Amino acid sequence: PATVDKIAAGEVVERPASVVKELVENALDADAAEITVEIDAGGIERIRVADDGVGMSEEAVRKAVQQHTTSKLRSLSDLERGVSTLGFRGEALYTIGAVSRLAITTKPRGGETGTTLTLAGGEIEAVEPAGCPEGTAVEVTDLFYNTPARKKYLKRESTEFDHVNTIVTRYALANPGVRFALEHNGREVFSTTGQGDRQATILSIYGREVARGMVPIEEVAEGPLDGMSGYVSDPETTRASSTYISTYVNGRYVRTNTVRTAVVDAYGTQLAPSRYPFAVLDLDVPPESVDVNVHPRKMEVRFGEETAIREQIEETIEGTLLDHGL
Ligand code: ADP
Ligand code: MG
Repeated sequence: PATVDKIAAGEVVERPASVVKELVENALDADAAEITVEIDAGGIERIRVADDGVGMSEEAVRKAVQQHTTSKLRSLSDLERGVSTLGFRGEALYTIGAVSRLAITTKPRGGETGTTLTLAGGEIEAVEPAGCPEGTAVEVTDLFYNTPARKKYLKRESTEFDHVNTIVTRYALANPGVRFALEHNGREVFSTTGQGDRQATILSIYGREVARGMVPIEEVAEGPLDGMSGYVSDPETTRASSTYISTYVNGRYVRTNTVRTAVVDAYGTQLAPSRYPFAVLDLDVPPESVDVNVHPRKMEVRFGEETAIREQIEETIEGTLLDHGL
């Protein structure tokens, strides 16, 4: 790809976690029941996402790595303003391929033969028949090997790992019916059962100690939200970071200060300074009360009737804590 493509790709693919996010989304789109994410050195050396989804034919995999929608990739200034994010739909594999070595091994469901396609810096190196299970495994090695300026921005291995862990956790919590596994440097970080139960998923990811400290939301206060469910922790089960507050709006993960503030306020002085509870919250928001286009790539949203929604969430969590004697 031309230099400009590599620069553009470097803007979109910020770090290993952005690769993982795109590959996991593809696996979910492909109807996977099981998704395994393996990373080495925080994903800087290697990322592999394998699924048991619909898979691809040789023809389909050749197409998948092409840039199908050039018209959407407008200019660098668009990218800098962050407005063209949605323009990158249909281009994740192409974009990741431009800044890494990529190998895709795939076999369609019910298909006879599999295919391995390898790319380096966006150029196809080989397309060969492969013996493999149905589904798709995408392996990304040497991320940013051909864009050294980008590579310099990567943080320490452990930091990149934390970002990947956050992403996989987010998708695993949102999809209790899919079996997720995350491995770092050959060691299992967590795996979920895929049995469709939120509480079991929380247990698999955060461990017994945390899961024991979490209680379900059963009653919802009056307000603009059509519904709210999920789990919150007791005031002692906390962390020094708010990343353990996961919010889903109409099934989609979002980042929102409104909800974080509401959660923290609900605990009030019960929470030690600079500590945050665990929370997994599903909000059922009337579509007219939420703007999802504030910053699509960062998944930020803005609520209409913000104060009323914040109060509703705060009251619901206060009530939940009270109901459980916390
Ligand atoms: P998009 O997902 O927006 O279509 P991508 O570049 O991420 O764009 O993927 C391109 C295409 O490759 C997808 O539309 C899909 O047809 C195919 N594909 C990618 N990943 C998978 C997968 N894990 N399983 C099956 N097909 C896939
Ligand atoms: Mg995609």
